[in-house]
Amino acid sequence: MTRRTIQAKCVDLDDFGRGIVRTENETCFVENLLPGEEAIIETVYEYGKLQDCYIKERLTSSEDRVTPACKFYPACGGCQLMHLSYPKQLEYKQRKVKALLHKFAHLDVEVLPTIGLENPTRFRNKVQKPVRVDLKRNKPIAGFYKTGTHQLISIDDCLMESELSNRITNTLLRLFLKYDYYPFDEDSMTGTIRHILIKTSSINNKALVTLVSATTALQGQKDFAKELISLCPEVVGVVLNINSRHTNVILGPRDIEVFGKNRISDKIFDKEFLISSQSFYQTNTFQIETLYGKAIEFAQVKETDTVLDAYCGTGTIGLSIADKVHGLVGVEINNSAVHDAIINAKVNNIRNAHFERDDATDFMMRTKMKFDVIIMDPPRKGSTPEFIAACKKILPRTIIYVSCDPVTLARDLALFDDTYEVTRVQPVDMFPNTMHVETIVLLSLKDSQ
Ligand code: SAH
Repeated sequence: MTRRTIQAKCVDLDDFGRGIVRTENETCFVENLLPGEEAIIETVYEYGKLQDCYIKERLTSSEDRVTPACKFYPACGGCQLMHLSYPKQLEYKQRKVKALLHKFAHLDVEVLPTIGLENPTRFRNKVQKPVRVDLKRNKPIAGFYKTGTHQLISIDDCLMESELSNRITNTLLRLFLKYDYYPFDEDSMTGTIRHILIKTSSINNKALVTLVSATTALQGQKDFAKELISLCPEVVGVVLNINSRHTNVILGPRDIEVFGKNRISDKIFDKEFLISSQSFYQTNTFQIETLYGKAIEFAQVKETDTVLDAYCGTGTIGLSIADKVHGLVGVEINNSAVHDAIINAKVNNIRNAHFERDDATDFMMRTKMKFDVIIMDPPRKGSTPEFIAACKKILPRTIIYVSCDPVTLARDLALFDDTYEVTRVQPVDMFPNTMHVETIVLLSLKDSQ
């Protein structure tokens, strides 16, 4: 391994929020460096290839730099942009979407300013944290990994989470000690607890706690749950998720209700939604209505419309417009999410909605239905060429694409280009202080079709 020290100026931010520094021979991507700032940087090479680079000393400060409010920020890899002022984070995300749409879809379209939050802290309603043993103190810790490593940083107050979920995390760790629930160790295959998953509801300050365990039961689990609830009365359900596999997938297939129900409720607009531990739910409590509100505004649905909500999760987007349209079909691959979607339609007395558990592409290739509007909200890896080809056969008037990754969004938009025109692009900040951005795109059928 060889090292070199250079002094250089940051010229821009990359897609991961790192500062871009160019020298004569190479381009380096440096964490915690902003455009215009100069720094002494150490570069590390292995077999002549650049492996790592980091700041030894920052020589100047950008006027856009702020002091991160989080004491864990320098070590924790959960957030990447907390050193950049919030208005500039929003501008960065707008520019990033524009640049990626240009790069991967050759689209030169207007990208609207990113819609941000008034207060970009304590917005997350779901936290998922690995649990490990702190070997020095021989006690369990939970937190986030340091960027690019497997080193777990113990975090007892994450500013992205609600106070409630931090309090529950800290209580769980104390109870793990008391009940001798040892964190699972991948190498020795000993211990039980792998992760904790906490979902909180904004409407009634309730929480659903899931312990991901390598074993099918924990000794004294009922007493454990009772004690947790006496210490944190906001907890309405304690679930044991069994994951005994040698994998980095967090949740296993099986859930056992130890206390209460595997369900928490939340409200979006005037509707109630029940969400179970394994179902997807938008993680930013305070932006859900903004995100869905924009999607609904762009969709311009009519009373006679039949709408498809593809990759529908618990049915939240579709059910929010079901009473404005003739019919709604939702398709979703995850069992518990579809189950929740069907219950959510019932709970809200919606009778014109139908949900199917299926792969969205398989459904599209098989369906004989006609849709006037398609809303698609695929996971990070995006949709498929087959799904898009099927859309182009059905020819809905409007397609709303909601995406959490502008790279796969751009790749997919390029495939729509011969038939649909991108008429609006709206980034929404669902993930403040991170490099991530959510984007809603309105695709309108071209006149020639
Ligand atoms: N629209 C929902 C969910 C969006 S997240 C909401 O706003 O809450 C993406 C969803 O796509 C997840 O629920 C995930 O389970 C689902 N999904 C992933 N791959 C899929 C596939 N191939 N077919 C159908 N659904 C899929």
